[in-house]
Amino acid sequence: MEKKEQLYEGKAKKVYATEDPNLVIVSYKDDATAFDGAKKGTIVGKGVINNQMTNRLMAKMEKAGIPTHFVEELSERDTLVKKVSIVPLEVIIRNISAGHFASRYGVEEGIVFSEPTIEFSYKNDDLHDPLMNAYHAVALKLATWEEIELIKKYAFAVNDTLKAFWSECGVTLVDFKLEFGRTDDGLVLCDEISPDSCRLWDMETDKKLDKDRFRRDLGDVLGGYRDVLARLQSSI
Ligand code: 5GP
Repeated sequence: MEKKEQLYEGKAKKVYATEDPNLVIVSYKDDATAFDGAKKGTIVGKGVINNQMTNRLMAKMEKAGIPTHFVEELSERDTLVKKVSIVPLEVIIRNISAGHFASRYGVEEGIVFSEPTIEFSYKNDDLHDPLMNAYHAVALKLATWEEIELIKKYAFAVNDTLKAFWSECGVTLVDFKLEFGRTDDGLVLCDEISPDSCRLWDMETDKKLDKDRFRRDLGDVLGGYRDVLARLQSSI
């Protein structure tokens, strides 16, 4: 399948049309942004790692019964996926306090929750992705109640599968962001599952192995990404 015209360029990926109107090609870039685009950088090799990691994990999700947009890895950076109409919500699951949860509620990072939490934010760059509850999403017709219930079910199922898998790799799954899209066959998990979208800590040392290395200038960003990919490849 060949790339045709570029349909979209986001912060970390480009999307191209294909000859099939139901399929698009996602191409992962090395660009990194943080703090609502205020911090920008390039992490050479990141796109290759995120592409491979996302695809392995999407395949795992399919096996666990969660439908995804994944079709086929085409090259180091390019993957064929189903074309979706995106639900404009960022769906965040947290197992441990960190990031905006810690700053928003004035608590330290590292509090282990007895149950995972879920939150939504409105995917809207101009408004800086504001936090939103399900009633607001339905009021604004961003999703139906049926879709919200399915998103919750899938997101917690992703958490169960992902948490168990990363734990086998000696990695703690702190939190992550998911996105969902509509196809003619129903709602599917889309976007990526990578160290750009998850907080992953080494289980022994709590060393951060994800994008917080970039956000917080902790150094050796790619080293963290490579470490998690290597652990994933040796466990699959
Ligand atoms: P927080 O709300 O603490 O900033 O982020 C919670 C989790 O969601 C983190 O794992 C973070 O990487 C992910 N996340 C939140 N917003 C975004 C986003 O706009 N893009 C990506 N790739 N991940 C995000």
